[in-house]
Amino acid sequence: MTTRYRSINALQQDNRRCRACANAGYHLESLPVVEGHAGQRAYLYGQAPGVVEAEERRPWRGRAGRTLRDWLGLDESAFYETFYCAAVTRCYPGRAPSGRGDRTPTPREQALCAGWREAELRILRPALVVTVGGLAARVLLGRTSLTACVGERCELDGVPAIPLPHPSGASGWLNAPANRELLANATELVRVELARL
Ligand code: SF4
Repeated sequence: MTTRYRSINALQQDNRRCRACANAGYHLESLPVVEGHAGQRAYLYGQAPGVVEAEERRPWRGRAGRTLRDWLGLDESAFYETFYCAAVTRCYPGRAPSGRGDRTPTPREQALCAGWREAELRILRPALVVTVGGLAARVLLGRTSLTACVGERCELDGVPAIPLPHPSGASGWLNAPANRELLANATELVRVELARL
């Protein structure tokens, strides 16, 4: 049970060994990927690691990570120092059967992984939450439309929560000029909130 954890180190030690989805019969292509440390006040919540992250076992190592850092104006060391990097599911789910992008974790996998997030939030008590991509915004903030929430300052249990689109570009959401404007508003909100931490 993830409720027993008192420290983020102990939680991560067990999270990195978690095989709950594989034991439930789901096909995973990596061990869990999670990175962060005690004391971080900003919690970054993505969808799931990709192939590069799976190989390196570090989050946000591929092209999407570089784009995200560009959006936020952070270099690598500032990015990893600022954000505790978590995700809806923490193991690489492999390619989508359609061949376009990565497989979206099933609702059951999302539910199996939720306990790690709940324990992290309980221990870390972040002062800022940033969701990345539609699935993360839906799972954590209950927001079902990126267009309706990107650029908005949401809240999670009284904590500012800023939704961002996913930087992989797989969805095509960013192709619309109006959505790129929403993104600019959202990244500005993140910068303002980071400056307050
Ligand atoms: S996705 Fe989450 S719950 Fe599933 S095996 Fe990986 S760490 Fe465990």
